[in-house]
Amino acid sequence: MRLILLGAPGSGKGTQGQRLAARLGVPHIASGDLLRAEVRDRTELGRLVAGYLDSGQLVPDELTFKLVVPVVLAAARAGGYVLDGFPRSVAQAVQAEEVAAESGAGPERVIFLAVPEAVLVKRLSERAATSGRSDDTPKVITDRLRVFEAETRPLVEHYRTRGLLREVAADRSTDEVAEAISAVL
Ligand code: ADP
Repeated sequence: MRLILLGAPGSGKGTQGQRLAARLGVPHIASGDLLRAEVRDRTELGRLVAGYLDSGQLVPDELTFKLVVPVVLAAARAGGYVLDGFPRSVAQAVQAEEVAAESGAGPERVIFLAVPEAVLVKRLSERAATSGRSDDTPKVITDRLRVFEAETRPLVEHYRTRGLLREVAADRSTDEVAEAISAVL
């Protein structure tokens, strides 16, 4: 199964992505985790992307694609993926569709985890105390939510138009959301 999880920061993509991937027996590929690993390992790519991560801005597409696309294509060949955090804009989705078309690696379903903004702010602020993430500060949390609204939210319509979208109300417990995801798959 090839799946994309779409949702704002704090919508639970990471938690649900891990559960779902384990259940489906495919890798959970989180673009943010891949980028943070580059920063942590002090690679050249990590040096180039650190500032974007710290400020909550999108990493330039060229750098993101270089890192994420080979991992996704390999997973698609090996039986599927749960992809979390990519694509993050319509431009990324269009470019990814071009890359995936040749190999049939594109998503079979896109699950949108819908959470009201006030709940997102509360969750992210609470998580900030323990996450250790450089982008979990009040200012950057606000900026990440803005970037989501401007850049990523349009993907909901993009995938709806293509008949791939399933929306799940994710302002509920982890178990309830996991059940709701299973029900729409
Ligand atoms: P969250 O969804 O909580 O913001 P992520 O781990 O998905 O957390 O993303 C963290 C940061 O990584 C983003 O703010 C952005 O800087 C970068 N990032 C992740 N995925 C992408 C992507 N597909 N394109 C550009 N930047 C990305």
